[in-house]
Amino acid sequence: MDAKMLRNYIGGRFVEAERSGSLDVENPSTGEVIARTPLSKNDEVARAVAAARAAFPAWSTTPASRRVEPLFRLAHLLHESEDRICRTLVEEMGKSLPDARAEMKRSIENVETACGMPVLQMGEVLVGAAADIDGAVLRLPVGVFGMIAPFNFPAMVPFWFIPYAIASGNTYVLKPSERVPCTMSLVAEIIDRTGLPPGVFNLVHGDREAAQALMTHPDVAGISFVGSTRVGRLVAETCVKHGKRFQVLGSAKNHLVVMPDARLDEVVRNMVTSCFGCAGQRCMASSAIVAVGEETEREVTERFVRAAREVVMANPLDPAREHEEMLLGPVISARARDFIEQMIQTGIDEGARCILDGRGARVAGCERGYFVGPTVFAGVRPGMAIHRTEIFGPVVVILSARTYEEALAIVNAHEYGNGASIYTQSGYFARRFKLEARAGMIGVNVGIPAPVAALPFGGTKASFLSDIKAQGEEVIRFFTETKIVTERFWPERA
Ligand code: NAD
Repeated sequence: MDAKMLRNYIGGRFVEAERSGSLDVENPSTGEVIARTPLSKNDEVARAVAAARAAFPAWSTTPASRRVEPLFRLAHLLHESEDRICRTLVEEMGKSLPDARAEMKRSIENVETACGMPVLQMGEVLVGAAADIDGAVLRLPVGVFGMIAPFNFPAMVPFWFIPYAIASGNTYVLKPSERVPCTMSLVAEIIDRTGLPPGVFNLVHGDREAAQALMTHPDVAGISFVGSTRVGRLVAETCVKHGKRFQVLGSAKNHLVVMPDARLDEVVRNMVTSCFGCAGQRCMASSAIVAVGEETEREVTERFVRAAREVVMANPLDPAREHEEMLLGPVISARARDFIEQMIQTGIDEGARCILDGRGARVAGCERGYFVGPTVFAGVRPGMAIHRTEIFGPVVVILSARTYEEALAIVNAHEYGNGASIYTQSGYFARRFKLEARAGMIGVNVGIPAPVAALPFGGTKASFLSDIKAQGEEVIRFFTETKIVTERFWPERA
């Protein structure tokens, strides 16, 4: 049977993409084609932007309290459909069902946070800015915003932006990742039932061509991009050239520093989840462990490898396994698997010790799936390719440092700075790490320091090429422009 061709959602209607080619969407656990994504061209994107532009005047002047009504309904409907969305997400992306549920929880949390917009978008007034003069700051919606999304969080990453953009009075065009387009297609069907006026939210499927069309369209005010730093740089340049606001959240290589006083039993369990959950394809996944002191290194290596060997690798929708909390599913594609396996070979060639090699992994019943088993390297030196590169798979490198300062230097010298964590019972070193580590999101005895919806999400260095982060109150700054009013009135003439 032919896999279903997905449709765009433009101006409140699901429409076939005309004149576009298409791409097969695979279930990475089985290699089975589950849908086809249309690769929309310029005119399709232009239609979506036109619908968003047409919806803007009425939507931006709708009272804030009315604008959040469809979002309250959306939160409720997402809860109701959670199981169906999660299974779709797992089928196209390959993460475990508990991971998908956590992703949906955070997505809904973002909708709920944006429901506070009538308060969050309030401006400020300074009565008496000068003699008989008041100053006021208004926070106004800007226009049409677009988003270019990555494959690894098909729902949550778009939800870092969409609810806030809409609740603050803007209209929106989303381009999901062409590799995982089914989840947000399903979400669009749900959005369609919320009573949101046509054109406020639009979805256009496609690859880089659609992304380019969105970034260069004169009626788009700003772009939020989440993906690799390589593409993020192009997005930033294009947006500057076309006079647009932009947010660019890029690649990562997150470090876990283990101090000699760390509680190793808890720490090892925590590190395994951080490194191998979502097959290492979270932007907050850790992939470099820095052990401080020889004894810590020896013990961490031994215990971590032992725990890594016990990780269950399976099809995440296998009924016998689907509730497994720490399940290692496939990576996204054959190409990703081949790259990861090549990087493992590179690590061996550059002299690191591969103590657990996940190449050639097989899962019974999933012979055509893209699995890589847990892989651990010891004796890794900073600057080796396996330490420099974002491998985005279940590959972990263990480095050693003699002191806290040496460990910090390794973290700080790295090109990327998305997240970084320290495991210690010492408040002194924890405080130093919070202040000194060059990463945007810091964990203290927390291996995945991904902030909740009310707090900003974003890194630093090459992991973040802009200045306003995702989520929460902070992202509202991206979706509004401030207008500053200075006013006075003279007394009426008698
Ligand atoms: P990617 O950069 O390959 O693709 C991201 C998006 O960009 C897709 O929608 C794709 O269609 C589009 N795109 C690709 N080439 C383009 C081009 N030349 N011009 C315009 N658009 C283009 O990223 P991916 O593989 O989908 O996602 C994984 C990456 O995302 C990893 O590097 C990961 O670290 C990063 N990521 C970062 C965060 C964060 O918060 N910093 C969150 C999630 C993912």
